[in-house]
Amino acid sequence: MRFQLILSLVVCLSVTVASAEEYLTGVQWQQPPIITPGVENSAPPSDAIVLFNGQDLSNWRNGDSWKVEDGVMVCGKGVISTKQEFGDCQLHIEWSAPSEVKGSGQGRGNSGVFMMGIYEMQVLDSYNNETYFDGQAAAIYKQTPPMVNAMRAPGEWNAYDIIWTAPRFNDDGSLKSPAYITALHNGALVLNHFELLGDTPFNRPPQYKKHAEVGPLSLQDHGNPVRFRNIWVRPIQSPVGKQVRDPYLRDGNKETPISQ
Ligand code: MG
Repeated sequence: MRFQLILSLVVCLSVTVASAEEYLTGVQWQQPPIITPGVENSAPPSDAIVLFNGQDLSNWRNGDSWKVEDGVMVCGKGVISTKQEFGDCQLHIEWSAPSEVKGSGQGRGNSGVFMMGIYEMQVLDSYNNETYFDGQAAAIYKQTPPMVNAMRAPGEWNAYDIIWTAPRFNDDGSLKSPAYITALHNGALVLNHFELLGDTPFNRPPQYKKHAEVGPLSLQDHGNPVRFRNIWVRPIQSPVGKQVRDPYLRDGNKETPISQ
């Protein structure tokens, strides 16, 4: 519970300090090419954990402060976080920027998908909307732009498909291995095994701070009525096997050990 609370505070903080000093990387990124996506969004596989059923936000903490309208959830007051927590996972999430275009830059259709409640993949209306490239839709906020801008128009549905590798920490709190993310935006690869530099705040460089092996999926309230639907996750479980004999070659009935 305490961990949850801290996570919520971390996410809240990154929103509420928006007027404070801003951290700048000093990297001059080229503009990600703008492409037109071609694939339909996808329904959950049979073994997926469905995080939003189109009816209520019972799977989410603070869910009462967001609304469900016509089978989709609409961003309300404050961050929401899944009650269930995840480490390495595959995540599918669909979102739509408001059809009524309001604001510009970071003020237009802003939300965010926070892996483990800490690491933000940006949600922003990046359709004909200029902002810094490592803060546009599908960026890892203030770390890297996406490879391409695959945005659909405001009001249309975007899909993120994310493969997440959680960071690992040593007992003394030091980083054992960083987080990695691979992601598709509307079927186009935008992040390819990107190594995260740490968390993703607005006002200071990224850093890693030891946390649990699992954490919630959190969605940001940045004051814009971004909508979400069809959210499902599959914890990553590597194939299981054990060596039962030494490797060999087989040709019909003839078996030849492979010399080591
Ligand atoms: Mg955001």
